[in-house]
Amino acid sequence: MIQSIEQLCDLIELAPETLALDIDSPFPLKVPKHFAQQIEKGQPNDPLLRQILPDLAERQPVPGFVADPVGDLQSNPQPGLIHKYHGRALLIASPRCDIHCRYCFRRHFPYEQAKKQHWQAAIDTLKNATDIEEVILSGGDPMTLSENALIDVIGELEAIPHLTTLRIHSRTPVVAPERANRPQLLAKLSQSRLQTVLVVHCNHPNELSEQTADCLQAYRSAGVTLLNQSVLLKGVNDSADTLAALSKKLFRQGVLPYYCHLLDKVAGAGDFDIEKAQAWAIFEQLRRRLPGYLVPRFVEEIAGEPYKTLLTETD
Ligand code: SF4
Repeated sequence: MIQSIEQLCDLIELAPETLALDIDSPFPLKVPKHFAQQIEKGQPNDPLLRQILPDLAERQPVPGFVADPVGDLQSNPQPGLIHKYHGRALLIASPRCDIHCRYCFRRHFPYEQAKKQHWQAAIDTLKNATDIEEVILSGGDPMTLSENALIDVIGELEAIPHLTTLRIHSRTPVVAPERANRPQLLAKLSQSRLQTVLVVHCNHPNELSEQTADCLQAYRSAGVTLLNQSVLLKGVNDSADTLAALSKKLFRQGVLPYYCHLLDKVAGAGDFDIEKAQAWAIFEQLRRRLPGYLVPRFVEEIAGEPYKTLLTETD
């Protein structure tokens, strides 16, 4: 794990003084070695580097960019549980991630509520919520939990009769595949009575490697359905060429594109924003170029809405 700017700059062969670094960022640099090794050396505008480098521009307030852009806190009936959509609920299973993504919509989330006693209470709530069929393990990143802790929580969810589906949201299989490839967890999932979906998070084809392919194949072999969500980010993947290459490479690794999120307007991420008209133009080009199953849904999360909002031409 790399948490020092100097160590990162050594690895990617860039001088720290050539970058507009925020060395005291309250959301500090954190990047796994695997992800850092996919960054092109000597390239300050590398699309992977841009996702993880604390930039001084993050300190500049931007109108409309706020701490909780998707209304997590208004859908937070008790600590550790987010309930926005019919039939599904989300457990904040971990306060940590293996990587700090600069555009993260939860970068200001009060993660003290991800303590075990809170999600234990949240699981008790789920036992009585018979309209909930699907539980999403999120965070932070649930893969930062120990293998035993994850297996325990899955066991508790399996014991709730009205649950049919387990969804795991994790960026770890992409950014640190060696940490996600866990034999006991995979064995647990392969035997689970719950239908399991792993939604990974990958924004650029360069993030995918032989190691991610091996890790993702292990989940497929365990009977897990694999989907990807990405975020449309200026300077990272804001072109049809990049997103088409991403969809094709994901598919070669057994993952179907699911969502491409318009940027959630979180404070600090203004530099990644893209006009909706440009997003629509990219979507149109993708649709012309790819079979439908490789075109992710371009969506926006609007606080208080009962589902994610599809991007339309008139936006
Ligand atoms: S892995 Fe996900 S939750 Fe964690 S910082 Fe990145 S976007 Fe945010």
